Amino acid sequence: MPKAVIVNYRECTGCRICELACSIRNEGVVFTQLSRIRVYPFPPGLDVPVVCVQCDKAPCIEACPLGLLSRDPESGAVVIREELCNGCGLCMNACPAARAPLQRKAERT
Ligand code: SF4
Ligand code: SF4
Repeated sequence: MPKAVIVNYRECTGCRICELACSIRNEGVVFTQLSRIRVYPFPPGLDVPVVCVQCDKAPCIEACPLGLLSRDPESGAVVIREELCNGCGLCMNACPAARAPLQRKAERT
């Protein structure tokens, strides 16, 4: 079973600091569109953080026409060869959480 970030939905206040921290840690910029975590607002008063849950049968892997997604044999995490991605977004469309690894690239283009 790969490691995954688990969200405690009961405690989330919707402050979005997690998005900022992820953007800075992984991209070196304050740009929450590039965060691996996304907090979706459902007004009034409901905020739902969504992350990749590292599905056992990850549909994002099958969805990529270029075969850029795979399972890292050591960590078990879904990984991407980001340098070859064209940003088509098919992996994101296949992801039940809309958190496929290349969502960031799709959102940049
Ligand atoms: S966005 Fe990139 S990784 Fe995702 S399906 Fe398209 S080419 Fe593959
Ligand atoms: S990106 Fe989506 S489909 Fe792929 S492993 Fe994560 S949650 Fe599952």
